[in-house]
Amino acid sequence: MILDGKALAKRLSVSLREETAAFTAKHGLAPCLATVLVGDDPASAVYVKAKRKACARNGFISKHIELPASTTQDELLALVHELNDDAAVHGILVQLPLPDQISDRVIIDAMDPAKDVDGFHPESIGALVLKRHCFVPCTPKGVMKLIEESGIDCSGKQAVVVGRSPNVGLPAALLLMQANATVTIVHSRTPEDVKKAVIGAADILVVAVGRPHFVKGAWIKEGAVVIDVGINRLDDGRLVGDVEYDTAAERASAITPVPGGVGPMTISQLMANTLQAARDAVAP
Ligand code: NAP
Repeated sequence: MILDGKALAKRLSVSLREETAAFTAKHGLAPCLATVLVGDDPASAVYVKAKRKACARNGFISKHIELPASTTQDELLALVHELNDDAAVHGILVQLPLPDQISDRVIIDAMDPAKDVDGFHPESIGALVLKRHCFVPCTPKGVMKLIEESGIDCSGKQAVVVGRSPNVGLPAALLLMQANATVTIVHSRTPEDVKKAVIGAADILVVAVGRPHFVKGAWIKEGAVVIDVGINRLDDGRLVGDVEYDTAAERASAITPVPGGVGPMTISQLMANTLQAARDAVAP
């Protein structure tokens, strides 16, 4: 089975559009996402453009701010405070990575947690750990939605997450555990032989490393579900994931393509989080 995130995101967007229209009719305002792009990283520009297009498609207001690569941390902080105070803005997305002179962490920490639709603020992550009302980071939320909507039950399964970044791997592992999988995390300090053995035992494998074809098809257990979060651009311009797709697809029972797997689900869940932020703002 191909886990087609593009098709699922399209399906989910039908109900999202209806819910957004109902919200707008009831409250006389549309959910508003502020996107902030600092510098001229081409990949970041593509991601932000896709998010703004999703806003337009789904009846959201998109407030977009572009700043030069020379922007100081204080200037960006001032903008974040301004957006925090702007009642018309429900969600704030500062596209990462930021230029070297700006600390991602300082900017994320300055954000109003009620507008942290990326789910990166320490309060959001704490609430996620404790299973409280929160913004779940969009990529791992999208991964779980893709698994659930494909009828795959995590309960009792051995899940392995390769990567432990705070934005992807770590929350993905938490969510899989909360879905009652038994979870192991593989990271850069996992010895090579342990890594292969652990990956080979996975019923559900989520890979978020950022290295093309890092996980070989031959390592994967026959019948495993493989979720490839990685997006890597090769020298010839092709986009590939962290998993060697062709060989993995021969062994997996279900697998995400790259592109068209997790990527569209991330944007879909960003929209869902922004609608949630708008709802919370009108009825806290
Ligand atoms: P990241 O912050 O760079 O984290 C990479 C993780 O991989 C780290 O935890 C690192 O371990 C681990 N790692 C590095 N080398 C390893 C090795 N040899 N063996 C095992 N683990 C290793 O990256 P990220 O933000 O999580 O993103 C990962 C990938 O997902 C990237 O390709 C990114 O572009 C993609 N991505 C896609 C979406 C989407 O919507 N599809 C969204 C976000 C990210 P340590 O912690 O030990 O250093």
